[in-house]
Amino acid sequence: MADPTIHLLDEETISHIAAGEVVERPASVVKELVENAIDAGATRIRVHIKSDSTEIRRITVIDDGRGMSPEDAPLAFRQHATSKIRTAGDLAEISTLGFRGEALASIAAVSEVTLTSRRREDVAGIKITLSGGLITDLSECAAPPGTMIEVGSLFFNTPARRKFLRTVSTELAHVFDLMERSALSHPEISFQLMHQEKEKFATSGRGDLPDTIQSLFGGDLARILITLSPLRGEMPVVGYVAYPLGSRTTRNQIYISVNGRQIASPSLVRAIRDGFGTSLAKGEYPFAVIDCRINPGEVDVNVHPTKREVKFSSERQVVDAVRTTVWSAVTEKGQEQQIIQAA
Ligand code: ADP
Ligand code: MG
Repeated sequence: MADPTIHLLDEETISHIAAGEVVERPASVVKELVENAIDAGATRIRVHIKSDSTEIRRITVIDDGRGMSPEDAPLAFRQHATSKIRTAGDLAEISTLGFRGEALASIAAVSEVTLTSRRREDVAGIKITLSGGLITDLSECAAPPGTMIEVGSLFFNTPARRKFLRTVSTELAHVFDLMERSALSHPEISFQLMHQEKEKFATSGRGDLPDTIQSLFGGDLARILITLSPLRGEMPVVGYVAYPLGSRTTRNQIYISVNGRQIASPSLVRAIRDGFGTSLAKGEYPFAVIDCRINPGEVDVNVHPTKREVKFSSERQVVDAVRTTVWSAVTEKGQEQQIIQAA
């Protein structure tokens, strides 16, 4: 008999393939690390980016969250290791941003990582260094409560992926966009983004969304915000919208989240625009930051490797709720209708 032509891949190859799904570019690293910080209950999240003329060299994410025990920290880098779900049944109702236990393993597989972490209740912290997914150093250390993760040499061992990186300014723009989205979906957390030791933005974390919008986009926009009020009998949609401000407002200034998870959804972008009816010129897009508060059982977040897309059990219902909530807030007719309903 001839040798079989099908064979199982080795562990290293498997980990590179898995990493390729999650870690597309530097912004994906920031996304996963920031999500972990949010899941860890952080109230402050600091992100530092270091770049040179050719690429982003180092990404550092610092949080003041729960931290990890010295026993847990090395486990966090194993594939499919998570503290967030236990059984397949838990997938039906996910309340954390992470759940697959893949991010740290994936990031570590294609970079050089140093993690420092300490739980408030522990005397000593732990420091772990990994290269290409393998632990090269592990020791006790002094550390503030929380977690710091530094990621360097991204894609050093996956030249195919590295080739697809865009210019530094494009990659940085993706990081900024991701950070803006994170800050807008969590006004109760103070975010700071630094690039080459210079502050790009900082939010107060006071929990006030207009305050966050002002920190990110300035007072002119903050002054023209229209508040969305959840409608009776509809899925609650909360947030703010505004008519386009000069040429600044583009399609990219529509920020949508579902239960605090930022998502990409062309149909909800359309629903927001439709809510403005004929008051927008052709090709014009409003500014919008909305959060759909949907029962976790009615939305599947486990459909896309980067979790950027979700599936609703009734997309129609969500689209309708978004459109009518926006419509009620921005049009005179809609406002009248709301007053009648409330009476
Ligand atoms: P997931 O987020 O899907 O659980 P990750 O690979 O992103 O998977 O993280 C693995 C585990 O490591 C998490 O479940 C969590 O217990 C722990 N962890 C990761 N980042 C942090 C952090 N910043 N603070 C505290 N724990 C963390
Ligand atoms: Mg995670």
